[in-house]
Amino acid sequence: MKINEIYRSVQGESSYAGLPCIFVRLTYCNLRCGYCDTEHAFYEGRDYTVDHVLEEISHFKCQLVEITGGEPLLQKEVYPLMNSLIDSHYTVLLETSGSIDIGKVNPKVVKIMDLKCPSSGECDRNLYTNIDTLQPYDEIKFVIGTREDYLWTKKIVEDYRLTERFPVLLSTVFNQIQPKQVVQWLLEDNLRVRFQLQIHKYIWEPSTRGV
Ligand code: SF4
Repeated sequence: MKINEIYRSVQGESSYAGLPCIFVRLTYCNLRCGYCDTEHAFYEGRDYTVDHVLEEISHFKCQLVEITGGEPLLQKEVYPLMNSLIDSHYTVLLETSGSIDIGKVNPKVVKIMDLKCPSSGECDRNLYTNIDTLQPYDEIKFVIGTREDYLWTKKIVEDYRLTERFPVLLSTVFNQIQPKQVVQWLLEDNLRVRFQLQIHKYIWEPSTRGV
């Protein structure tokens, strides 16, 4: 499979934010979100076998691994990779865009699934059937860039009763909308979601790669 980068850092998002984590970033993406900060993963990468990935991450002495991209589910080798990581007793997070069927993902993998908001430009690609495949410990993430995005998110959360079923994460498009504005809206509406910031963009320069 083609891998863009493997590195250890702290998890920047989700309920696992702040924990040391190994990131395995797979190459390729089928979407082109307007705010994408990992365009380097669209085509760049090196070929790895599953065993080669396992060997490389074993040097980090860390039991939390995130499989990310790009869109990691585009490469079929990602499934044996996730299964091998689970068999080796890693806690495995999968960050996926929500546009690809997640039905074949090992149920022990914690899925952190986006639902793309209108301002991303990729809202039409959301595969809503994925919602019924998620487990209660999986997480759904919305990235808000505009008031329209917020109102759309609120409607989807209500229509699919998401906060009764899963942890729901709301974050903002970096440098596009004030976080305190979104927090004000969700408090006014009493939306029971977890607001989050991409903490790696505050620890390091926002454009820094491999952190
Ligand atoms: S799904 Fe993720 S990697 Fe792909 S274009 Fe959107 S933000 Fe970038």
